[in-house]
Amino acid sequence: MAFSKQAQANFDAAETDRQFSWHPFTQMRDWCDPAYSPLILESGKGAILRGTEGREYIDGNSSIWTNLHGHAHPEINAAIAAQLERVAHVSFLGAGHPGASELARRLVGLLAPSPLERVFFSDDGSTAVEVALKMAAQYWHQNGEPERKYFVAFDSAYHGDTFGASSLGGIPTFHERFKKFHFPVLRVASFEDCAALPELAAGQVAGIIIEPLVQAVAGIRLWPDGMLTKLRGLCDEHDTFLILDEIMTGFGRTGKMFACQHEKITPDFLCVAKGLSGGYLPLAATLTTQRVFDGFSGSYEELRSFFYGHSYTANALGCAAALASLDIFEKEKTLENLQAKIAYLEKDLECLAEHPHVGEVRQIGFVAGMDVVKKKGDGASPAQPYPWQKQIGAKVCEAAKEYGLLTRPIRDTLVLMPPYCVDFEQIDICVNALWKALDDVC
Ligand SMILES: *Cc1c(COP(=O)(O)O)cnc(C)c1O
Repeated sequence: MAFSKQAQANFDAAETDRQFSWHPFTQMRDWCDPAYSPLILESGKGAILRGTEGREYIDGNSSIWTNLHGHAHPEINAAIAAQLERVAHVSFLGAGHPGASELARRLVGLLAPSPLERVFFSDDGSTAVEVALKMAAQYWHQNGEPERKYFVAFDSAYHGDTFGASSLGGIPTFHERFKKFHFPVLRVASFEDCAALPELAAGQVAGIIIEPLVQAVAGIRLWPDGMLTKLRGLCDEHDTFLILDEIMTGFGRTGKMFACQHEKITPDFLCVAKGLSGGYLPLAATLTTQRVFDGFSGSYEELRSFFYGHSYTANALGCAAALASLDIFEKEKTLENLQAKIAYLEKDLECLAEHPHVGEVRQIGFVAGMDVVKKKGDGASPAQPYPWQKQIGAKVCEAAKEYGLLTRPIRDTLVLMPPYCVDFEQIDICVNALWKALDDVC
């Protein structure tokens, strides 16, 4: 009886979805194929999500890398509810609110002592990057160096999908066809490439942007150790800005609060989003230095203000969720407790690496990527991939659902990055699910 009611609900939501919605990064013909049954998620608790069909899954990619402490966390829920009683949203244009004041102070405090002393709020990762770009460009323009007109970005980078952020992107599938609309970017493959740019020496670079430690959308690709330190040095040498996109790595993902703390450097701009609100509401922030802030100071008629903003900037519910999330880090000693889980995941992944169809396994902190391969490499020959058209990664993830794991691949790289609240047993379930799904599909 209960099941048939749920099945009914699923039928309605899924059918209505197929009739009216358009999903991101999705071939909608496949989605709308009657043979495919789209997943409709209706609730969650901790690391678990529940579909309308009545099944439960471990949220193996933290709802696209946003969730930290689990779903329906009582403290975050209570903080949002309490804020809702006061006010849901007020404009940040021409007014402030207590939650935003406190959150800005706490964000600066997470990095202190550091030159990052100012916080500009926006809505999502892409807008956090847009803010950094426009601030950097306007800073140079009105402070005597208008010839600094280039941004440097790396091959395979991903910084978001709005036009500015996607101009920086280096993933051909997503970015190539928009090339003629994009602003020109100096693209480099490595630190050495970057250091050799003549535009850098000529004082034409407005900023260098990088995803610190790991390029996630590129397939969980790790940078060499020391990369950030070298980039910081290069930016100092040429007096240009270092912009760090910590939208995925921020708030503990790599085992420290921010990835830049692994190399003890600070950027001139730090972009955060995804985990900022604990994964509850769209909220982003761009942190920058007093130097940049001062570069916008002047009398009104000089028009040196930063003319930029969004209607939901510093949304009060989002700020309340973010403050509760930061409280949880302290109360639950989240980062301390995460270390044992990172080590445990590493052990489990060593076992998974034995699977005949698992190639390279890459992990940093609580982020892991595993390449699905047709044939493993050996001393004589490299691993043999499947043709990308086969969508083997997607098929493995689809099969993993049957074993209680929900995640999404990046092409043929399986991604595992559950919320920090998962327990050891759930980590085992995730890794076992991938093993069995690989057996079924490959
Ligand atoms: C997700 C992501 C973005 C874009 O953030 P949105 O909130 O999706 O706009 C940018 N950079 C990195 C590294 C990301 O992981």
